[in-house]
Amino acid sequence: MSGPMLCRTCGIALDLHSTPTTQVYEHPVWSVADHPAEPEPAPPGWRGFCDFCTVKSAEFIVPVRPFILAATEHASTSDWQACPTCSLLISTARWDSLTSHSVAQIERRYGGTSASPEQVRQVRLLHEAVRTHMTGPPRRLGEPS
Ligand SMILES: [Zn+2]
Ligand SMILES: [Zn+2]
Repeated sequence: MSGPMLCRTCGIALDLHSTPTTQVYEHPVWSVADHPAEPEPAPPGWRGFCDFCTVKSAEFIVPVRPFILAATEHASTSDWQACPTCSLLISTARWDSLTSHSVAQIERRYGGTSASPEQVRQVRLLHEAVRTHMTGPPRRLGEPS
C-alpha cells in the first residue's frame, strides 16, 4: 500500500484519481492550485491535516477499506485521518454536520471563498463513500488497531 503523496510545490497532500487505465495524483477538489501537481512521497512519520476538514491536525484514524468513487474517480487507498471534531461527528454518525463542517473549514482556509455547489456535492459524495467503507470506529492515532 502506497503512503501519502505530497505536492512538491505547495506541500498539500494529493488525492489519487484512478481509472481502469491510469492513476494520477491531483490536488484535492477543494484546493485552488494554480500549478500542476508534482507528487513526491511524504517523509516518514509525516502526519498531515485532517482528511475531512483539511484544517486541524489529525489526531484520529478512521479505518476505511480501499474504494474508488466512480462519480469523481477519487481513489482512497488507505485509512483516513481525522481531527477531534471530525472524529466526534463520525463516531456519532452526524454525516450532514461533517460535510457542512468540512466545507466551512475549507472556505475559511481559502479566505472566505464560497465552495461551488459542485465542490460541496463532491465532498458529500466522498463522505458517503467513507461511511459505507468504514470498517470500525475512529481510534486515536498511535493506539493499536
Ligand atoms: Zn501543489
Ligand atoms: Zn477535521
